[in-house]
Amino acid sequence: MSTLQLPALLTAGELRHPSRRTKCSSLRSFLDLTPVSKPEPLTIDIPYHDPSSAHRYDAAIIGCGPAGLRLAECAAARGLRVCCIDPAPLSPWPNNYGAWLDELHPLGLASIFDHIWPTATIAIDGDNIKHLSRPYGRVNRSSLKTLLLENCTTTGVRFHPSKAWNIEHEELRSSVSCSDGSAVTASLVIDAGGFSTPFIEYDRPRNRRGYQIAHGILAEVNRHPFDLNQMLLMDWSDAHLDNEPHLRAHNAAIPTFLYAMPFNENLVFLEETSLVGRPVLDYSEVKKRMVARLRHLGIKVERVLEEEKCLFPMGGPLPRMPQRVMGYGGAGGMVHPSSGYQIARALALAPELAEAMVECLGSTRMITGKSMNCKVWGSLWPAGRRWEREYYCFGMETLLSLDLKQTRRFFDAFFNLEPRYWHGFMSSRLSITELAQLSLSLFAHASWKSRVDVVTKCPLPLARMIGNLALQAI
Ligand SMILES: Cc1cc2nc3c(=O)[nH]c(=O)nc-3n(C[C@H](O)[C@H](O)[C@H](O)COP(=O)(O)OP(=O)(O)OC[C@H]3O[C@@H](n4cnc5c(N)ncnc54)[C@H](O)[C@@H]3O)c2cc1C
Repeated sequence: MSTLQLPALLTAGELRHPSRRTKCSSLRSFLDLTPVSKPEPLTIDIPYHDPSSAHRYDAAIIGCGPAGLRLAECAAARGLRVCCIDPAPLSPWPNNYGAWLDELHPLGLASIFDHIWPTATIAIDGDNIKHLSRPYGRVNRSSLKTLLLENCTTTGVRFHPSKAWNIEHEELRSSVSCSDGSAVTASLVIDAGGFSTPFIEYDRPRNRRGYQIAHGILAEVNRHPFDLNQMLLMDWSDAHLDNEPHLRAHNAAIPTFLYAMPFNENLVFLEETSLVGRPVLDYSEVKKRMVARLRHLGIKVERVLEEEKCLFPMGGPLPRMPQRVMGYGGAGGMVHPSSGYQIARALALAPELAEAMVECLGSTRMITGKSMNCKVWGSLWPAGRRWEREYYCFGMETLLSLDLKQTRRFFDAFFNLEPRYWHGFMSSRLSITELAQLSLSLFAHASWKSRVDVVTKCPLPLARMIGNLALQAI
């Protein structure tokens, strides 16, 4: 069954004259609806750090996001004394997370999805729709955070409900000053505070980062055209902008797509997304495009249950390595530069980093100071993984240079690749050799127009990637 069942929902007249359908006071007003859900803090007993004690931890982890909590759990399970610092460790996470089932299943986390769709769909345009037989799920944020907090509690992690303000380093220990006037002392500090913490240093300017911006709502709607067995990963169609020449022209140059998770016939998560932009696309324009799209789809929003403003950087240089503070998750450059995905990776790589931490800080304590910093940074970013990231940055730079038509041609070819290639690319599982094979396969299977796009758009990003790889080899 096709995902977009528009003809079933809209009359022929409506399809020919979308503007006739509704002048849309109700649709316009969805932007003005106040989200009804007020997230409540989680109710778990967690052990707190005692600020009056002079306790020295093996590791202080800044941030109780998915990355910080997972790393804390893994490090403490291996015997390290860990303190997590976050102003509100029990606050629910604000973001709606999606991931492929095959990413979380091997981690024993398949049960934390609250909804799984057996297939995902890509609408290249109105007629060209691809069905991907790879199950995709929405992460139940509350379940995942509860599980990680419980595991942390069982393994002895302490929590300090404050904001990390400053970090001072002595030879063999560091002290994190917090906004409540206290300090947490540890042999190693890890910044897992997300994309905007100030503690990680860079050698190279970060002006070549791209930005993903999106406006999302979890909404009760009158009806929607989506197949409940499929989640809509990307809909690049632009027919909804036929009556909006200005928006249409801008979308043709800097496209956005719709991401939709239909939970039942009246409940759906909808997100209009700019995959990557530089400079970042104006947020109000993203919202206007979404209003036009929902109107075209005949979706009337009855209630907004949750609203999500998504904005984060992608790509750009990795942090300077090594440095005293270890970066993990969004703070450590781990977001996928071409797709913006990260959560599965941060969950999967935490045991590796925890192993390196234990080698340095475990009972034998053989590795300290700069050697420890080299060891932990090297465990997360061995040469192969840095090269792979350069390739994903090359992918991001290529996407940045494509307009709507070229983007459609690119994804048409990309999702025609053998599944092992596009699965591996999206889940950061391919070696640099496999990524090179993917490029050849993409070129071989692309339409001639798409090949022209590649030949005309890729040389500069390719040269930059080769330059960066050469710099890393020195
Ligand atoms: C709206 C949105 C939707 C996303 N959707 C997806 C998705 O579907 N799939 C996916 O794979 N990725 C997604 N991402 C990308 C990425 O996975 C998320 O941003 C993810 O939350 C990053 O995890 P993190 O633990 O590194 O940081 P965060 O989740 O940002 O957590 C950081 C934590 O650190 C705390 N903190 C910050 N500063 C300090 C400080 N100074 N002191 C103490 N604590 C501090 C914060 O309060 C927060 O609790 C999304 C991103 C956004 C913004």
